Amino acid sequence: MTGSHGDGMKKHLVVAIDGPAGSGKSTVARRLAAAIGLERLDTGAMYRAVAWAAIDSGVPLDDGAALGELARALRIDVTDGAVVVGGTDVTAAVRTPEVNHAVSLVAAVPAVRAELAARQRRWVEERGGGVVEGRDIGSVVFPEASVKVYLDASPGERARRRGDEGAEAVARRDRLDASRALAPLSVPEGAHVIDTTRLSVDAVVEEVLAWI
Ligand code: C5P
Repeated sequence: MTGSHGDGMKKHLVVAIDGPAGSGKSTVARRLAAAIGLERLDTGAMYRAVAWAAIDSGVPLDDGAALGELARALRIDVTDGAVVVGGTDVTAAVRTPEVNHAVSLVAAVPAVRAELAARQRRWVEERGGGVVEGRDIGSVVFPEASVKVYLDASPGERARRRGDEGAEAVARRDRLDASRALAPLSVPEGAHVIDTTRLSVDAVVEEVLAWI
């Protein structure tokens, strides 16, 4: 590994997929990864794992130092579809309303972001590339990514896709994610922006494949 992740990343095929909740990131990333024969990393699941662990162990959500310590100590395994924390399967537990509510607060903590971003870079280094989805992938974690995609959709469509979470909860999460001081949700420089509101998954995947 080189000292600078920027230089280190150039030799790898990294597809960065960012966008708000319900924009279609996971579905598109999964399909894309299968199409090009790379693994997919759902970085949102990593933030959810830390939020779940904070609730589970009673770490206050406004204690940045304790949350950073928790993130550094946590064993998190995110493989396609499953989330395991310290040997406990939390795949369903990280999708509860409590975690939906806590995750954006936890994700705003610089020490948590530093730890998870380092793990995300390591994940790509170990595999020689990958499809990585999140909020700050093309802007902060892999600014040198081979291809950057920013997916969006109308608020109504995104709330519909998120189903049970509810339009207000989705809007609150997006507001917090887009307004935090560090690594806010934004369109990365050089990203291809796709509005997926009226597009099929096939159409979005085709469009992205054409850029790779
Ligand atoms: O992708 P998902 O909606 O599961 O992400 C859950 C939360 O994790 C987001 O609302 C955001 O607060 C945080 N997140 C982040 N940076 C990423 C991925 C997710 O801050 N790269």
